[in-house]
Amino acid sequence: NLITLMQKSDCIIGVEHVSKFFGDKAVLNDVNLSVRKGEFVTILGPSGCGKTTLLRLIAGFQTASEGIITIGGRDITQTPPHQRPVNTVFQKYALFPHLNVYNNIAFGLKLKKMPEATIGKKVKQALRMVGMTDYEDRDVDSLSGGQQQRVAIARAIVNEPEVLLLDEPLAALDLKMRRDMQMELKEMHQKLGITFIYVTHDQEEALTLSDTIVVMSEGRIQQIGTPTDIYNEPINSFVADFIGESNILNGLMLQDKSVSFAGHEFECVDKGFGVNTPVDVVLRPEDIYIFEPSAAAQLTGTVTSCIFKGVHYEMMVQTNEGYEFMVQDYHSFEAGREVGLLVKPFDIHVMKKERTCNTF
Ligand code: ATP
Repeated sequence: NLITLMQKSDCIIGVEHVSKFFGDKAVLNDVNLSVRKGEFVTILGPSGCGKTTLLRLIAGFQTASEGIITIGGRDITQTPPHQRPVNTVFQKYALFPHLNVYNNIAFGLKLKKMPEATIGKKVKQALRMVGMTDYEDRDVDSLSGGQQQRVAIARAIVNEPEVLLLDEPLAALDLKMRRDMQMELKEMHQKLGITFIYVTHDQEEALTLSDTIVVMSEGRIQQIGTPTDIYNEPINSFVADFIGESNILNGLMLQDKSVSFAGHEFECVDKGFGVNTPVDVVLRPEDIYIFEPSAAAQLTGTVTSCIFKGVHYEMMVQTNEGYEFMVQDYHSFEAGREVGLLVKPFDIHVMKKERTCNTF
């Protein structure tokens, strides 16, 4: 139908039923992904989940064991890397140490035998884009980590790729520099209008940068969605646990809109699970109200720790039934205090059981 056709024509990268085996180990398992033109997509997951492998398959440094990869609708599964309209920026900047900034950026264009005047113009433009206008003659060794990474990005964008692949490009930078560079990357993405596919294990970075987040675990895609979707509506307890802080408890559906966990019965949103279905219950620490013990409390307990986190306080509360909850609030309740807890029905995320929790 028309909508599918429109969606297809809008798609720049297609990953269809892709698996990758090393020996008999499946590092990627039936991965399907469609990236729209101009989108900022982040592949997020813990170390070893297959993020880099997926990026390398798109770049062409490795070939898929099964499935196909398309760029602009064309099957490029067997196309060598230099014939793909993509460029990669790595965590280690991989600059040529014996060349200055200009020659590092010009390298690929010189190989293509482009006229020197055109190269000069393009290098200047790329340097302007990464905020390094006056650095042409500098040795790359004399630059800071952040500046070297900017040069690496300039070297990638000077080739005008349709897609820029970035593999943990900020991982080697300190926190302050990383935050600054995140903002710059986002601006750069908007100015360039090209598609970014970005790999990171840092959930905050993914939430800050992306139009779309692809959450991976053990070679499989767990969820694809906008940062708000992923944060507010995690599809399972893995995603909930990986993105932000979560309290994850074993629960049991008592009725369509009623779930039991932590020794009590709570009203929740009907997610279509039948009565008596075991479920994972996810509560965000900032969604739990904490106050003096009162009749309004659904749970009562004692604060076991209280830490100031800059804007809010993070408190651990042990309920009278022996369950532990992390709670965040702008007000502090010191360790040892008796408190009441309350969660609204729509903040009780009930999801399909994925694994056993130890908080039953
Ligand atoms: P990290 O964040 O640590 O880089 P990742 O999510 O990017 O992790 P990959 O680098 O894609 O993960 O690796 C996924 C799994 O595949 C790991 O268990 C890794 O050891 C394995 N692997 C990757 N490349 C090879 C290879 N060439 N031969 C054998 N195993 C490999």
